[in-house]
Amino acid sequence: MGIRTGAEFIAGLRDSREVWLGNERVADVTSHPAFRGAIGSLAGLYDMQHEPAHREALTYPSPTTGNPVGMSFLIPRTREDLVRRRQMVKIWADATCGMMGRSADFLNTMVMAWAAKQEYFAQQSPECMERVGRYYEECRERDLFLTHALIDPQVDRSKNRAQQDDPYQCLRIVEETQHGLIVRGAKMVATAAPFADEILVWPFPPTLTEAEAPYAMVFIIPVAAPGLKIICRESFSRPDQFADHPLSARFDEMDAVAVFDDVLVPWERVFLHRDIKLVAQMYAGTRIREMTAHQTNTRLLSKIEFVYGLLCLMAEAIGTQDVPTVQEMLGEAASYVEIIKATLITSEHEAQIDPSNGVMYPSLQPLQVGRTWGPRIYPRLMEIVRRLGAGGLMQLPASSAIFDSPIGPEIEKYYRGAHIAAREKVSLFKLAWDLLGSDFGARHTLYELYYAGDPSALMAGFHREFKKEESRARVQAFLREGTE
Ligand SMILES: Cc1cc2nc3c(=O)[nH]c(=O)nc-3n(C[C@H](O)[C@H](O)[C@H](O)COP(=O)(O)OP(=O)(O)OC[C@H]3O[C@@H](n4cnc5c(N)ncnc54)[C@H](O)[C@@H]3O)c2cc1C
Repeated sequence: MGIRTGAEFIAGLRDSREVWLGNERVADVTSHPAFRGAIGSLAGLYDMQHEPAHREALTYPSPTTGNPVGMSFLIPRTREDLVRRRQMVKIWADATCGMMGRSADFLNTMVMAWAAKQEYFAQQSPECMERVGRYYEECRERDLFLTHALIDPQVDRSKNRAQQDDPYQCLRIVEETQHGLIVRGAKMVATAAPFADEILVWPFPPTLTEAEAPYAMVFIIPVAAPGLKIICRESFSRPDQFADHPLSARFDEMDAVAVFDDVLVPWERVFLHRDIKLVAQMYAGTRIREMTAHQTNTRLLSKIEFVYGLLCLMAEAIGTQDVPTVQEMLGEAASYVEIIKATLITSEHEAQIDPSNGVMYPSLQPLQVGRTWGPRIYPRLMEIVRRLGAGGLMQLPASSAIFDSPIGPEIEKYYRGAHIAAREKVSLFKLAWDLLGSDFGARHTLYELYYAGDPSALMAGFHREFKKEESRARVQAFLREGTE
């Protein structure tokens, strides 16, 4: 028990899971070209936990066995703990250029946050609280890789779950048996589901009317559970094509719909059910928002730093680095790095112990700036990639193999940059195109827009929750002074 190796992670995926890619039922996700690039990258992260250079930053001793376990399971009790958690997330995110939004540390953080607030679940029953604590320990000790599926299928958003024409379109409880809940219906968009060990399920947005009680549930289920189907989107993965598609070769996380066909969820894995108030308030009430945003902003920081580095190299490659308008765009990109970094540092600086559990929570409001600004910053960064690269993004040979063809010398001459050889410039601009214009790149812009929920609702919610009393009072006081 304790940290797994990449090989152990991969071996764990060879089970009876039902994964569909088009009309193909995938026999073994670990060797399939749609998945093996991302699986290899995730395995690399597990292996990093064992490397002497990273082991101290990525692990800590298990409170139960003393063996090393993943740092993303650490329940922070001090500001230093928050910093250690951030450093861990950053090391993994840097290793994947910030491209793997759902690496294991994301959901490890959610499960950790639940365990830190396990009393919340006691409001359903003392057993539910104990289950949450036990699951956290199991997940930590087995070093599991989780994903989550929260959203109802996009069919008719003008109706709530209970009003849809098929009562089992959204995931609903069919029956409660002595063994657990039987559930039927679908959830989306479970990123990484084909190669996750388990899926965590709860309803988002967490708005539930009385009639939606059968849809109110929080549980975890193995991906290989009988009756659970994972239906993938088209693959954007191009394994073994690093030279031409450096990002899609390694990091296509895959997104999927999870269809539950009368799946039994054992009681041991049911944390809340049928209580609409408890389920609706779970997201805020267990304070997973703060903890997960601390992880997601760190991952976003890593990605923005990577994009900024790419922009600098692109400008230098074509000799535009001293053009004032180019410098302005580079400065703008650099400022986004600092904005996201500031959300993290401020959240740690303003972190406070929650007296109910002695846990150190990063401050929510600065972190929400990452959630609300990420969807604005990232598309703008892609616009800057487009502006800086311009036609150069199309001055790319169909394949890098052309360098070794009879016309290689001409490619060397016409495809070189200001101070770099053609091979380097082509690699750089192929990276830019994979990020910006490939199917992989388009999915990433969509991901940054929506991974944290509807960006409009997030921004509106930020205003509603913002501590506005002092600002309002100052304006009112100013107006009073003028009339006195
Ligand atoms: C690449 C990617 C990966 C994802 N990964 C995950 C994952 O791992 N796990 C997971 O659970 N979810 C995941 N999601 C889902 C994500 O959380 C949702 O996309 C997000 O919450 C928005 O919900 P939706 O897509 O259902 O949009 P919808 O709710 O269908 O909204 C579509 C559009 O209509 C607008 N709209 C909808 N309803 C209203 C209304 N009543 N009034 C006004 N406007 C409205 C919205 O603003 C939006 O612009 C992922 C999404 C993407 C794109």
